[in-house]
Amino acid sequence: MQTESIVKVKSKFVKSYQAGFPLILKDAILNIESLTKEGMIVQLVDEKSQFIGKGYYGKQNKGYGWILTQNKKEKIDQSFFEGKIKKALAKRKDLFNSTQTTAFRVFNAEGDGIGGLTIDYFNGYYLINWYSEGIFAFYDYVIDSLRNLVEYEGIYQKKRYDTGGKYIEEDGFVDGKRGQFPLIVKENDVNIAVYLNEGAMVGVFLDQRDVRKTIRDQYAKGKTVLNTFSYTGVFSVFAALGGATKTTSVDLANRSLDKTKEQFSINGIDTETQDIIVEDVFQYFKYAVRKKKMFDMVILDPPSFARSKKRTFSAAKDYKDLLKEAILITEKEGIIVASTNGANFDMKKFKGFIDQAFKESNVKYSIKEEFSLPSDFATIKQYKEGNYLKVVFIQKH
Ligand code: SAH
Repeated sequence: MQTESIVKVKSKFVKSYQAGFPLILKDAILNIESLTKEGMIVQLVDEKSQFIGKGYYGKQNKGYGWILTQNKKEKIDQSFFEGKIKKALAKRKDLFNSTQTTAFRVFNAEGDGIGGLTIDYFNGYYLINWYSEGIFAFYDYVIDSLRNLVEYEGIYQKKRYDTGGKYIEEDGFVDGKRGQFPLIVKENDVNIAVYLNEGAMVGVFLDQRDVRKTIRDQYAKGKTVLNTFSYTGVFSVFAALGGATKTTSVDLANRSLDKTKEQFSINGIDTETQDIIVEDVFQYFKYAVRKKKMFDMVILDPPSFARSKKRTFSAAKDYKDLLKEAILITEKEGIIVASTNGANFDMKKFKGFIDQAFKESNVKYSIKEEFSLPSDFATIKQYKEGNYLKVVFIQKH
């Protein structure tokens, strides 16, 4: 028998947990001292000790762990994990059968029933992300599930929590055979170079797949495109393949230059024909205004929070001002792709920022497209914060 610690939930939180809210919030717990060891199984009960749900203790910035079942008798064991992963794999059957797309999310945390754990697929390789020491305690269950359920070239992992320097991460290799990096995967027939053996980011954010396809297929032809916060430039590659006359990628990180060149090259695009600029986006905006540079399309995909030498940027506070800068250098009837992964505000609020930015700029606009997470990034209605991605295509009039 697993020992299950009892966690008492404050009365005002009981209803939402009964309705399936999955995150164990620090504020919801009466006896926080009962949480002693990451990975321990906990039983949530109300003030009358009635069972509410069962989960694990694992500290993330979001909360203190995740509820895994509302069934008191269900055991959190190998077969529990294998069952959830099996179901998640079945849901992605079409993606597994696709020859055009070989990179996607296989398991999306609480959206697939286990908060704190994601698994991505990259052309034969599986990449596990552990978001707390607590979920890492279930390492054997997850690895054995993959061994039992899928054939793979290799498995890699990343610990996305503070390991306090305790474990020295080498390249994150777990099982199978080591990959040759860059590993070339496909997304809607476009090549993307990924590195499973480097830091937290592998070279592409898989949640933007539908956005990239839309830019390529419906918006890029004959257009000049400015891609800000461009990272490895994958939006630029899609725009160029869609017939953009020229792309300009701007990112502060030195690594972005070579990484972006690489993404263009593996798609047969001469990097000399594209602009790749290593600079602070806010500096670049000033330069563009001074030089009267205008673009048909401006892509904005900033991190939700970033600190650079000169300023801090927080999407919730500063997105409106970012938009105002973009409006200045977007041609009339041009498109601004406004994207954010800020989980602390919703689409309604995001559209409010957009409206304010255009009003304050005295410019009319219309909304052309809206995106949230693609279906492989499964979410549940009881946890709206899990559906963090918001992308709006705005036409400037
Ligand atoms: N749009 C990218 C992902 C962006 S990730 C894509 O779809 O792949 C965020 C990027 O913003 C990082 O590469 C980081 O280096 C960059 N960044 C953060 N602050 C910046 C700033 N002030 N100016 C330019 N780039 C910045």
